[in-house]
Amino acid sequence: MTLPKTTAELRALDAAHHLHPFSDTKALNAEGSRVIVKADGVWLTDSDGNRYLDGMSGLWCVNVGYGREEIADAVSKQLRELPYYNTFFKTTHTPAIELAAKLAELTPPQFNRVFFTGSGSESNDTVIRLVRRYWDIKEKPEKKVIISRRNAYHGSTVGAANLGGMAPMHAQNVAIPGVVHIAQPYWWGEARQGETPDEFGLRTAQALEATIDALGEDRIAAFIAEPIQGAGGVIVPPATYWPEIARICRERDILFVSDEVICGFGRTGKWFGCETFGTHPDLLVMAKGITSGYMPLGGVMVADRVVDVLLEGGDFNHGYTYSGHPAACAAALANLAIMQREKLVERVADDIGPYLKARWSTLAEHPLVGEAPMLGMVGALELTPDKAGRRKFPEVGKVGTLARDFSFKNGLVMRAVRDRLIIAPPLVLSHGEADELVARARK
Ligand code: PLP
Repeated sequence: MTLPKTTAELRALDAAHHLHPFSDTKALNAEGSRVIVKADGVWLTDSDGNRYLDGMSGLWCVNVGYGREEIADAVSKQLRELPYYNTFFKTTHTPAIELAAKLAELTPPQFNRVFFTGSGSESNDTVIRLVRRYWDIKEKPEKKVIISRRNAYHGSTVGAANLGGMAPMHAQNVAIPGVVHIAQPYWWGEARQGETPDEFGLRTAQALEATIDALGEDRIAAFIAEPIQGAGGVIVPPATYWPEIARICRERDILFVSDEVICGFGRTGKWFGCETFGTHPDLLVMAKGITSGYMPLGGVMVADRVVDVLLEGGDFNHGYTYSGHPAACAAALANLAIMQREKLVERVADDIGPYLKARWSTLAEHPLVGEAPMLGMVGALELTPDKAGRRKFPEVGKVGTLARDFSFKNGLVMRAVRDRLIIAPPLVLSHGEADELVARARK
C-alpha cells in the first residue's frame, strides 16, 4: 500500500491538529502516534509495515475480525439506495425495521423493542431518561437514584460518565445528582485477607441491598452494571455475585440495567452476558459488537413490562439524528448474519474460548502474575510484586503501562488498567493465533 505521506509527516500533522480521546498527550507528542493503515482478520498493520496481533478487537468491538467484504458491501449497497433517513416523526426504513426484529429474536424473551442510538454512551444517556420516565409515569417521581459501581465504565457523555465509576472522569467537574456507586466485585484487589472469592462475592453483592435500605427503596430507580466490568480491568465476578444481585433486583422495586456494550454479541460465550450469568435485566444496553465496529451504532433493548408503561405515558421526547442510521443498521445485519452463519457464539463457548483460557491460565504460574482470569474471549493478567500477599506496586499503573508498551512493540495489542493487562481478541481468533497471543503475552 502506498501512503500519501511518510510516517513522520503523518505524525507531525496528527500532533498539530488532532486532540485525542483518552491519551497521555505528553507521551503521545514525545513519541508520535502509531498510525494504523490496514487490518485483516486479527492483524493490524501500521504505516511502517509492522504487524500487530490485535488482542483488543480495536476497542472491544471487532468481534467478527477485520476485512469482512460482506459488511463493506452491505454498507455500500445501503449508501447507494438510501444513505440517510431518520426514524423520527412516524417514519422508518427497512434496515431499522429488519434490525429491530433481528434483535428481538436474538435477545432474551422479555425483550421485543429496541431504541436505537449511535453509541454506547448515547445508549446509557437514553437509559437515564427511560428509567426516570418510567417511574414518573408510574407516579413515583421520587424514585430517581441510579446505583452503579466503582470503576464501572458506561461511556463518556456527561450522563454516561456520571453513571460510570471512573474517578478521573468524575474529577472533571461535571457531576449530575442522583447516581450512587457501590463496590466492584474485584476479589484480587479488594477482598479482605483470608476472605474467599465466594465470601467476597456475596458481601459485595449485598452492598446493593444495604445501599437500597440506607437510601430507601422508594428513592431507588435502577441498578446498572456490566456483566463483566471491562474498562475497569476485566473483573470477572466470583460465582456467588450475580445470583445474589439477581435476587436483590427481583425482590426490590427497582429496574435492572445490564450494560452489554462489551459483553454482548458473543463475548462471554452466549449472545449476551446476562445469559451467561443468569440475570434478568429490564433494560439491555448494546453497541460495539452489534456492527463489529464497522459502523457506529448502539441501542437499548427495553423489556415488555417497561415498554407497556412507557407506551401508556405517551411521547418519549428523546432521540438522535443517527438513531437507527440505515447504513449502520445494514452493517449490523450483515455482521449478525456472519455471526450466525459461522456460529461464532458457539465457537466462543465450545472451541476457541476454552482453548484460549487453558493457555492463558498458565500465565498465572509466572512469579509476577497474581491472577489470570478469562471468561469467553475476555481476560486479564494482574501484575504484582507479591503474589501471596496480593500486594500492588508502589506506583500504581507504572508497571502496567510499561508492560503494555513493551507488548505493543513486541506485536501484541493489550490494554493496561492500573497494573492489570487486559485482552478481548476477535471471536475469530484461530488456535494458532491463540498460541501466538499467549506466547507474546508471556514475553
Ligand atoms: N458501556 C460500556 C460497558 C463500555 O465498555 C463502553 C465503551 O467502552 C461504553 C458503554 C461506551 O460506549 P461508546 O464508546 O460507544 O460510547
